[in-house]
Amino acid sequence: MTAGPEDSQTAPPPTDPTREAVCRRCGTSCHVAVPAGDLGSVVVPGLHCQFLVADSGLFTCAVYDRRFEAAPWCHTAEQAQPLGYLAADCPYGAHPEGKVALAPEALDRVFGTVLRNLRAWGVPTYIDRVALLRQLESRTRRRWALDPWPGDPERLRLRPVGLTLPLATSARGGSA
Ligand code: SF4
Repeated sequence: MTAGPEDSQTAPPPTDPTREAVCRRCGTSCHVAVPAGDLGSVVVPGLHCQFLVADSGLFTCAVYDRRFEAAPWCHTAEQAQPLGYLAADCPYGAHPEGKVALAPEALDRVFGTVLRNLRAWGVPTYIDRVALLRQLESRTRRRWALDPWPGDPERLRLRPVGLTLPLATSARGGSA
């Protein structure tokens, strides 16, 4: 299961239960990855498909049985792997340009770059907007809004709102 641009999707093949069992439910593929220099495309906690649900430290899909109807941006692992939409070390097949989930300290170090790229390129409309805004507010100690991207109905633009918040609210939030 993975999120990615819709226009690369073709009709999904039937589900194979044996293949499904390979998934480790890390949720990486259902997050949107953001370029972070030499580290590649890194997963941003909170920046993920609107149907992704945190489940006891793992992730699950709220619409898995009907995901290709409910979520036209979703891909099968077979479709996503050659495109680099899965985790770089995914059991469905490694990919040198796959998504990378950094340890919290490593993500902290590159978050300035990640945020700059998010603001420059925007985010897809299919994300969980509440989760992203909550995560950004926690990390940056300021509030953010998501606005329509001029001329692109499938993209949203991040906009800072108001002043930096007091330090007491700055603890880093959860992953989703
Ligand atoms: S629809 Fe489900 S499987 Fe597909 S990207 Fe969203 S959370 Fe992942």
